[in-house]
Amino acid sequence: MTVKIDTSPVIADEIKSTTCYMCACRCGIKVYLKDGTVSYIEGNRDHPVNKGVLCAKGSAGIKQHYSPARLTKPLRRVGERGRGEFEEIEWEEALELAASWLKDIRATAPEKLALFTGRDQSQALTGWWASQFGTPNFSAHGGFCSVNMAAAGLYTFGGSFWEFGEPDWAHTKYFMLFGVAEDHASNPLKTNLGKLKKRGVKFVSINPVKTGYSAIAD
Ligand code: SF4
Repeated sequence: MTVKIDTSPVIADEIKSTTCYMCACRCGIKVYLKDGTVSYIEGNRDHPVNKGVLCAKGSAGIKQHYSPARLTKPLRRVGERGRGEFEEIEWEEALELAASWLKDIRATAPEKLALFTGRDQSQALTGWWASQFGTPNFSAHGGFCSVNMAAAGLYTFGGSFWEFGEPDWAHTKYFMLFGVAEDHASNPLKTNLGKLKKRGVKFVSINPVKTGYSAIAD
């Protein structure tokens, strides 16, 4: 019996061009939609950052929308703290609850609220919220990670990674990489490391763990 396999099924009725948000490189992507649902993501060959390359994390962007583990409603802890038991509540209830906790402090001394957010990629919004609340005491994951790296890069060699610019790949003669994780700046870094190696630039990687970047270091 011959089994016919359709190797080119129609997977989209619409294709949108945008940028990947799975890390801060912002690679260009094409998102395939079928009946309004994301069915496939591919790298955009016309985009200057990645020229069509898509890393595994970028492909997994579909799961950012459809993972069954994704939270769809606010959760309220039930039972003992630390037992990991929560119940779903409606947004209105969650907002009322949060407002009741914060009302007094906002009326008396809003600067006593220190707001810290994770890597939510919407820090412009959370920072704006904090300033509207009346506290200057807000920070986010970036303050411990990428923003420091960006500041150091800009002050020393005039560029950094991700949306903060780029090192001067064309004129670099000696490239040192300290502790960069494999999934950081993935596509642009890999592409440009390839170019450095081709030019015979010395590449030194200092890292407590083995990475693919280190594997091609001198
Ligand atoms: S390197 Fe990967 S995760 Fe980062 S923006 Fe590009 S495709 Fe997305």
